[in-house]
Amino acid sequence: MGEAALALRDAARRLEPVSDTPRLDAELLMAHALGIEREQLLLDLPRLTVPESFGDLLERRAKHEPIAHITGTREFWGLELLVSPDVLIPRPDSETLIEQAVEIFQNSPPHNILDLGTGSGALLLAALHEFHDAKGVGIDSSAAALQIAHNNADRLDMSDRAWFALLDWTRPDWIDRLDGPFDLILANPPYVSSSLVLAPEVAGFEPHQALFAGEEGLDDYRVIIPALDRLLADKGVALLEIGFDQAASVSEIASGNGYVIECKQDLGGNDRLLTLRRQK
Ligand code: GLN
Repeated sequence: MGEAALALRDAARRLEPVSDTPRLDAELLMAHALGIEREQLLLDLPRLTVPESFGDLLERRAKHEPIAHITGTREFWGLELLVSPDVLIPRPDSETLIEQAVEIFQNSPPHNILDLGTGSGALLLAALHEFHDAKGVGIDSSAAALQIAHNNADRLDMSDRAWFALLDWTRPDWIDRLDGPFDLILANPPYVSSSLVLAPEVAGFEPHQALFAGEEGLDDYRVIIPALDRLLADKGVALLEIGFDQAASVSEIASGNGYVIECKQDLGGNDRLLTLRRQK
């Protein structure tokens, strides 16, 4: 075994206590240290020497720091996005919203898209990537998050179609600042119960304001769902990400506000998404 291959084997062992994917993590960190893609690392492995910074990166991961924070990027819907501790790291589960949007709008694409709690911009930018003629706005209550979203739009060449606004839906008149109606509204709001103890890589590194939403994890839905009436086009669709055990409680809020609801599961088979349409 070459030097790098041996180092990877040891690194994977070192990460076993902190990660479900220790080997993958080790490969991603070594590729990052070398400034190459993981695929290239695997091809060249027998000939590689261990990069000097690898040990430090490994120690950071061993202290639960997420890979995305160490590398500064995360792939979402095939797009490479910048991330930082100021934004929630985009999750594969959230791609369910984009799949659903693509399915719903395949014959008549949306023109005007709104992303509530945009964070890194992941949902908005993935939607704009699919719907080439659409434009959209992402709002967030964190200026630091919006800076990341902005940079992502720039890097993906979408700044002419993606706008970002610093708005907090817990304050009055945030809706007036938005130029609706919107054909498609996306939201991955905070929905974690404040009494839940999250894994150390989440609790210790990701922004709590993007995660926690009161005792039941429903505080943000209780604000967002009533606001949809003023934001959603007549034939518009709102796609809300939910926690795996929140389909019934969020559906109740939505039907109480006059919406027809459909629930979809993520790839893990968990309830993950509610589609809301106005009652005819
Ligand atoms: N899915 C995230 C988690 O499990 C929560 C995301 C959110 O609150 N919007 O950590």
